[in-house]
Amino acid sequence: MARYTGAVCRLCRREGQKLFLKGERCYTDKCSIGRRSYAPGQHGQGRKKVSEYGLQLRAKQATRRYYGVLEGQFRHYYELAKKREGKVGEQLLALLEMRLDNVIYRLGFASSRPEARQLVIHNHFSLNGKKVNIPSLLVKPGDIIEINENSRQSEKIKKIIESNASRPVAKWLESNKDQYKGTVLSEPNREDIDLPVEETLIVELYSKL
Ligand code: SF4
Repeated sequence: MARYTGAVCRLCRREGQKLFLKGERCYTDKCSIGRRSYAPGQHGQGRKKVSEYGLQLRAKQATRRYYGVLEGQFRHYYELAKKREGKVGEQLLALLEMRLDNVIYRLGFASSRPEARQLVIHNHFSLNGKKVNIPSLLVKPGDIIEINENSRQSEKIKKIIESNASRPVAKWLESNKDQYKGTVLSEPNREDIDLPVEETLIVELYSKL
């Protein structure tokens, strides 16, 4: 399946919740969710009864879109989650949270996950002293993420850090913006993940497929 390249606000309206795909705009009253809180398309405003399968599908799609993950990759995370200790749904979310692009967003080094993904691909970051350009890399406790030396001089990077300075950093991470550095303190717990989705619905969906 190809990566979605259309208007991203449509995805939020489809899922009926903010997916924070557009950076600063998502935190202003220009956000489409506030202005047009119905699904996009001709039948978006029609009243619909949602089936059990529909609820499960929406939970999966919202989570997948929130983290910017394709269907095949998402299924892969689900299979990994099944092999970990603990509830499968919670492990699935923990794995998605530990993606490098998400961690960079959570540290305040990008305004959105799509932007974090772009910055990683364009070689602006190092993981434990080695340059990385793979947004899907999974971090682990003790890992250190840094903005590369050359990129620290970039006006774009400085502006991003400044505009995200007031956004709270997840408590399983430590951000040291003065040193352009972040540390992974632990794996995230479910309460550390602010995604308003019932992950058990995703597990129910995949257990039937
Ligand atoms: Fe979603 Fe952000 Fe667009 Fe609002 S502004 S609809 S949160 S992408």
